[in-house]
Amino acid sequence: ASVCIGPVEVGAWQHQQQLLEHIIDHEGQVLAGSAIAINPEKVMAARAEPEVARMLGNASIRYADGIGVVMLMRRRLQQPLQRIPGCELWQQLMLRCARFDVPVYLVGAKANVLAQTRDKLQQQQVPVVGATDGYFEDEQQLLADIRQSGAKVIPVAMGSPRQERLIERLRPELPGCFFMGVGGSFDVFTG
Ligand code: UDP
Repeated sequence: ASVCIGPVEVGAWQHQQQLLEHIIDHEGQVLAGSAIAINPEKVMAARAEPEVARMLGNASIRYADGIGVVMLMRRRLQQPLQRIPGCELWQQLMLRCARFDVPVYLVGAKANVLAQTRDKLQQQQVPVVGATDGYFEDEQQLLADIRQSGAKVIPVAMGSPRQERLIERLRPELPGCFFMGVGGSFDVFTG
């Protein structure tokens, strides 16, 4: 099920676990595609700019992050739905990668924040096979490095809409991978 909020169709995930199991199933199989958190700011941006609406529509999963979006969906569907905070979803996804030994490549944030994020995840047994901070210059180099790493899950922490644009360009080049824009999550995780 899903609910259209203006030009944005948001998936009616009942809770975080349901979405996590959709991204990495019970056998550790990873969904190919991308997920975007939807909050009122993104809905408003999509209303104002068709290009943003198109970009959001292009993601394979849109989930309700902002509470305003969740409340509207509850009212329309008349069923309980939980808010899925992007930062928490990302952390739980990393633990699921650890559980099923799914290789992760981190993109984004400042170099020191990224290094701390990588260390902390590795302490949690998350198989981090590579990382590039969010201030790189050569996108082709990044692409080559991700390819070589064999990563399957790629969180991108560069803020919106920068991270979504990058994901759009990388996705066709890495068709088996799962991408997730995570905004300032690395800063929160290490802060
Ligand atoms: N960031 C990045 N590259 C950039 C700009 C920002 O990696 O060119 C990172 C920044 O270091 C931070 C994250 O993106 O870790 C989120 O930035 P911001 O707070 O500006 O975005 P928002 O969370 O508001 O979307």
